[in-house]
Amino acid sequence: MFGKGLLTGMGVTIKHFFGKKETFCYPEEKLPMADGFRGGDLAMDWRVCIGCQLCSMACPNKALDLTVVTDAKKKRHMKYYLHKTGRCLFCNLCVEVCPVHTLHWDKNYANSTWNKEDMIHDAMTDKDRSDLEVFLADVKVKAEAEAAADKPEAPKTEGKAQADKPAAKAADSAKKPAAPKAEPKAETAEKKKGGEA
Ligand code: SF4
Ligand code: SF4
Repeated sequence: MFGKGLLTGMGVTIKHFFGKKETFCYPEEKLPMADGFRGGDLAMDWRVCIGCQLCSMACPNKALDLTVVTDAKKKRHMKYYLHKTGRCLFCNLCVEVCPVHTLHWDKNYANSTWNKEDMIHDAMTDKDRSDLEVFLADVKVKAEAEAAADKPEAPKTEGKAQADKPAAKAADSAKKPAAPKAEPKAETAEKKKGGEA
């Protein structure tokens, strides 16, 4: 009886030893999370985000602190996207309300810290911000070039107007009766009258 039980136990051990592994070597390996998992930090792509701040307005616990900048063409862009995970309820309202579907969970559940105040994650990296600065400078240059192209060519018009002035004056003077010639005529008429008298 003792020998049979030992062999059965050894058989189970050997079967699992060579079978599929059911455990992960955490934290080196992480269990992949399901699509619907709400956890970790919020992530977004600043190139897709339109800076509408609807996610922040929808948040019931004021867990999002956003800084938005406007480019030279009046379009808004995200500069800082602070997600205070210590305040977050993981209700998913911010993700659901995003009109361009750029907001999502990074599913990094292995976050740990000593203080709740340290649980602040910026979805914008320093690299994102430097790319944004380059983008904003580029938009400014394009906007200035477009504005310059749209402006009417003022100096040319002025020059033309000035050039037209003498011609207009000449035309006016040609139309007007010659005033000095009228006086001698009147004098001649009076003289004639005097002679007749
Ligand atoms: S999951 Fe809910 S509580 Fe957390 S940031 Fe989004 S809206 Fe706010
Ligand atoms: S709702 Fe979406 S598009 Fe609007 S600010 Fe938030 S992340 Fe950006």
